[in-house]
Amino acid sequence: MSEDWRERRERVARRVRELREQGVCYTCHDLRTGELFGDQQVVCEDDLFRVVLEPYPRMRGHTIVVYKPHREDLSELSEEEAARVFQVCVLVVRAIKRALGAEKVYLNTMCDGGINHLHLQLLPRYHGDPIGSGRFVAERGPLTDGPRTARLIRAELRAGR
Ligand SMILES: [Zn+2]
Repeated sequence: MSEDWRERRERVARRVRELREQGVCYTCHDLRTGELFGDQQVVCEDDLFRVVLEPYPRMRGHTIVVYKPHREDLSELSEEEAARVFQVCVLVVRAIKRALGAEKVYLNTMCDGGINHLHLQLLPRYHGDPIGSGRFVAERGPLTDGPRTARLIRAELRAGR
């Protein structure tokens, strides 16, 4: 039987723990090798940012913004970098709203627990969803319809509204 999504998620988590124990940043490692997340659905990417769909989303359009230079968390950003990171988040939030019809998009960043690498999670809330922090812990599931969702968000980003 093929590996189900929970097994796959656990396998990647084990590899992340292994890399951390070796003192390796798993995100920098993955940006170089594609070993962990090479099959992720990429919304857009340039020299500084990689925007992907969360592979085990809490809701449709759950998106991760990775700032490529190694920074452990928000506190390590210069003012200029902070401005750039939030500008990108604002553009992606708007694109998610338009592309998927989200009423709001929540932003969360933790980067806790061992060697980490700054990334920000964008969690859409749709009409009828409960409002509030429960969205941050909504049940995960496998990514379905990833290519289409990524394409829709990308199209809105390119439209640049
Ligand atoms: Zn890193």
